[in-house]
Order: sequence, then C-alpha cells, then structure tokens
Amino acid sequence: MSKRDYYEVLGVDRNASADEIKKAYRRLARKYHPDVNKDDADAAEKFKEVSEAYEVLSDPQKRARYDQFGHEDPAQGMGGAGFSGADFGGFGDIFDMFFGGGRSRGPHRGDDLEYELQIDFEQAAFGVEEEISVPRTETCPTCHGSGARPGTRVDKCPVCNGTGEQQSVVDTPFGRMVNRRVCTACRGRGVRIQSPCPDCQGQGRKRIRRKVKVKVPAGVDSGNRLRIPGAGESSPDGGPPGDLYIVIRVRPHKLFERDGTNVYVDVPLTFVQAALGDEIEVPTLDGPVKLRIPEGTQTGTSFRLRGRGIVRLNSHHRGDQHVRVHVITPTNLTDRQRELLRELGKELGETPHEQSRTLIERMKSALFDN
Ligand SMILES: [Zn+2]
Ligand SMILES: [Zn+2]
Repeated sequence: MSKRDYYEVLGVDRNASADEIKKAYRRLARKYHPDVNKDDADAAEKFKEVSEAYEVLSDPQKRARYDQFGHEDPAQGMGGAGFSGADFGGFGDIFDMFFGGGRSRGPHRGDDLEYELQIDFEQAAFGVEEEISVPRTETCPTCHGSGARPGTRVDKCPVCNGTGEQQSVVDTPFGRMVNRRVCTACRGRGVRIQSPCPDCQGQGRKRIRRKVKVKVPAGVDSGNRLRIPGAGESSPDGGPPGDLYIVIRVRPHKLFERDGTNVYVDVPLTFVQAALGDEIEVPTLDGPVKLRIPEGTQTGTSFRLRGRGIVRLNSHHRGDQHVRVHVITPTNLTDRQRELLRELGKELGETPHEQSRTLIERMKSALFDN
C-alpha cells in the first residue's frame, strides 16, 4: 500500500511553519473525526492518515528525518540510532511493513465500547437522531499522547532502548530461549519522560465524556446493535481507536405491541357495535385510521391494516397492524335495559339456561365418548 506524502495529506507547503501545520491538522481532524462521520469508513481512514501525518510533521526531529528519507526512513526499522521510541504512535503500517503482520507488540487497537440507548416505540419505528454522552478514554489533548509536559524533553527509555520490551536470554536443556516482556521502566511506551503532563498525569490518555450523535435507523428493535467506527476507546499506544456499539432498548408502548415488523393493538367494542357493525377509529403509528367492523363480529376477531406496521430494517417494506377486538359485556343495566335484553333474547329464540345446558351436554359427550 503506497502512502501519501504527509505534507500533501495535511495540505500544507513543505516549508510550512509549526503553527500552519497545527492549524491544518486541527481543521482536518475536526472534519474527519469519527464522531462527526459516524459509519463512514472513508473518513475514519482519512482521520488516521491525518493523525499520522501530524505525529511526524509536528515533531521537529521526526519531520527532519521525514524530509530526508520520506516514508522509507531506514532508522524506523532498526530500533537503533534516531529511533526515538515515541514513534510508536500511529505507525501501524510501518510496523507491519518491517516486522510483518501478527506481531504482538506495536500499536494496539483501542477497546470497543458498549452503550445502551433507550428509545421510544415510535422512535424505533421511524428512526431517530440522538446525542449521547459516552465516557471514554482519549488521547490527552495537552500532550497529544506523549505523556510529557508540553515543552519538556522526551527521551528514549534507557532500560529497553526505546523498544518498549525487555529481552532476557536463558539457556535451557532445550536450547536458547528468548523471553520478551513489556518494559517495566516505561510500561512498553519506549520513552522516558522528564516531567509528566499535568493534564493526564503522564498517562498520555484521559477520561473524557464525549458527545456522540447516533442516527438510529427506522425499524430497530431491542437488542439491535449499531456500530460507530472509531468512537470507542483510544489506543494506549497510538493505534487506531476501537468502535462504539450502541445497544438499542425499546421502551414498551401503552397501546401497541410489536412482533418483528407487525404491530398489535387491542380495541374494545360494545355489544351493540359488535352485533350491528360499525365504523370505528383505530390508533396506528400514523395516527387514527378508520376500520369497518362488520355485523356480527365475535370477540377476539383480528383485523389487519396492511402496511401500518413497522418498516423492516434497511428496507422500505412495512409490516401490518393487527387489530384485535374485544366485546365488552354491558354492566350496571337499568330496569328498562334489562327488559330490552330479555325481550331480545326471547326474540332470538334462546334463553341463557338453554345455551349453557347444550354446552354442558356437548362437553359430557366429548368426555364419555372416548
Ligand atoms: Zn497529557
Ligand atoms: Zn522501556
């Protein structure tokens, strides 16, 4: 993979001042920051490229070496003269080039973060944009991750000679074994700091509550996870940041229930509406919709409102709404109402006792026939 020229990446002149480089970096970092460009892999890549260019061009020593050698700095791979150790920051590609992929040391990706986001039923149905505040560890803005008080010296760690790891060679009956472990003096960072950065106490990283805009697509459901690349924890050693996973929790609704893309709602009907039929108004996600109830509707009957459900994630297909009706038996009747119902019963040629008697007979025969 061929790397772009660092000056070209930052859009500055080869003899740009430190201030110009800083300004260019800030402008581009803001433009391509993962928080602003969620879900944009291109921007994440640009952000990494810009950060890397700045790491080098903001350091007079590194910049001088870069001017001389370009991306092919022989000192980078040797761990010898001119290898400042602080170069660990943001050099995933260079490390891979010289040491081969899969090496355990070198820049590590930051950890992924998980954040639970509660949204309303309607927000899940139609999508929503939320701004959340995520606590995460970021590269210290004061020292840009070096851990050193600005303006103070950062030297190569004398214990590990800037490599960040200590080796010990042990002769065993099976041969010579080389043990590698993280340098205890510099905790693997390869540098010795003269005066620690007061902002991060020399850690190079800080806990910050970062505001992140989340675009929740229509159709999400509880348990769905949205990934925002690069919005996770920053890397402890200059690697790329981890990702942020938003776990969706949908709050239950007063009226609606949901199963996949279908919505269910229960609607009461009076005894008279059920018997004679009616046109009623039913609540839907789009507001009230008219529904014709046919004559003689039984309790528990379900009607379907096509396309009034929830959109399938990443599509335009919308599920249906199912309306279940429940017939309400009239209570607290007046004498006149009772009289009318008795009258109606007679007219229908039935008495409640007869009805239940036939039912009991049917149950008996079902039991004893077997
Ligand atoms: Zn700091
Ligand atoms: Zn060390």
